[in-house]
Amino acid sequence: MASAPVRVRFCPSPTGNPHVGLVRTALFNWAFARHHKGTLVFRIEDTDAARDSEESYTQLLDSMRWLGLDWDEGPEVGGPHAPYRQSQRMDIYADVARRLQEAGHAYRCYCTTEELDTRREAARAAGRPSGYDGKCRELSAEQIAAYEAEGRTPIVRFRMPDRPITFTDLVRGELTFSPENVTDYGILRANGAPLYTLVNPVDDALMGITHVLRGEDLLSSTPRQIALYAALAEIGVGGGTVPQFGHLPYVMGEGNKKLSKRDPQSSLNLYRERGFLPEGLLNYLSLLGWSLAEDRDIFTMDEMVAAFDIEDVNANPARFDLKKCEHINAEHLRRLDPKAFIEACGPWLKAPFAPWRPEAFDQAAFEAIAPHAQTRLTVLSDITDNVDFLFLDEPVEDEASWNKAMKEGSDALLRTARAKLVDAEWHAEALKSAVLAAGEEHGLKLGKAQAPVRVAITGRTVGLPLFESLEVLGRERTLARIDAALAKLGG
Ligand code: GLU
Ligand code: ZN
Repeated sequence: MASAPVRVRFCPSPTGNPHVGLVRTALFNWAFARHHKGTLVFRIEDTDAARDSEESYTQLLDSMRWLGLDWDEGPEVGGPHAPYRQSQRMDIYADVARRLQEAGHAYRCYCTTEELDTRREAARAAGRPSGYDGKCRELSAEQIAAYEAEGRTPIVRFRMPDRPITFTDLVRGELTFSPENVTDYGILRANGAPLYTLVNPVDDALMGITHVLRGEDLLSSTPRQIALYAALAEIGVGGGTVPQFGHLPYVMGEGNKKLSKRDPQSSLNLYRERGFLPEGLLNYLSLLGWSLAEDRDIFTMDEMVAAFDIEDVNANPARFDLKKCEHINAEHLRRLDPKAFIEACGPWLKAPFAPWRPEAFDQAAFEAIAPHAQTRLTVLSDITDNVDFLFLDEPVEDEASWNKAMKEGSDALLRTARAKLVDAEWHAEALKSAVLAAGEEHGLKLGKAQAPVRVAITGRTVGLPLFESLEVLGRERTLARIDAALAKLGG
């Protein structure tokens, strides 16, 4: 679809922690750029010193790196339009604002907040549109002098054309906004600081952005920006092309409310800490408004890039479904090369996640059990509880598990099992036969016979396959744990 080389941008403000909605926007821009062999510009919209933080900036970069969403121009990589942090481009915006005023595309507005509020209320009460009423559009030199004498400090407003603005949204189709609903808007604060409404289109124009893919919440600013691009072209800022827009659908959370940044479920860090794989999380997020094919939920980022185009994005709100997100991640864990899985578990086998003494960790034992864990985990952090029986001096104490598994007769069963394990061959098949035979002596099926053994060994009623676990744990420690359980049972 795109004829000129594609140039898209991801341009977050560094406030707070990155959230999944933001990641979805980054992902769609990245996939679009990669699909069209275009350029992804990473721009930091840090013009609001009161809200922006360096910590959040660092986190954004770190998150993008972790996700594997690489950028072609931006922080750390540079590029022909550097700097890519808007806080370092303030003189550009001041200059553009001045030129817009000189050309008559912007003007000083002296209305106070109270005056604006009063007029807005009145317009509402009368059933009229309540945007800015244009009071300061044509002030005379005398009026300006009088306001200045009163000590008023003006903001600068962009003058919207008095005609409807129509554009074809790449997701939503043709949209028209009438002038009553899109009124003149502020581009500079009273203290001269430029607003998002100015800096974002100015940089899009200067950086030659061809497509703006962003959240639906920004749709109402699009007609304003389109008018501003035209004015910028007129005064010679940028190459004169108006980007095409595609607004990505809302992401809904619990109870059909929009997923908000404050929703704990939306914090990217949470997914990292739980041990989602970047490709698992991205695979899920790609489904928030897009799909590869009717019957394919699991795919790689290469497959997404090959298939992705913005016209296929659905305009309907998408539901964030944590269960599905987890399921998709589990599938990606299964697909990892066993070595890669072992490596990916690394952080969760160490402090602060691992509860065992660091020197008790045994890499060979972990590698022996890892294949059994790989098919069962949802997220990498699950690994710690699943293998802790191997590295803790004693199994965890989980009272609920103990009470559930240790019934009358469990001590007798454990004694029989112990007797058989003493001289069983030490591999999973033989260990299974031993416990099976012990169960038979007590009239118990394998499942029932296995439960007290499992709790004695691992402390829990659920876990990795028992006999493989015993095989890795070794005879000596297995017998010692059975003895400890028998002692606890008073036997
Ligand atoms: N910094 C803006 C935001 O996070 C980006 C808006 C845009 O994509 O145009 O809302
Ligand atoms: Zn005014």
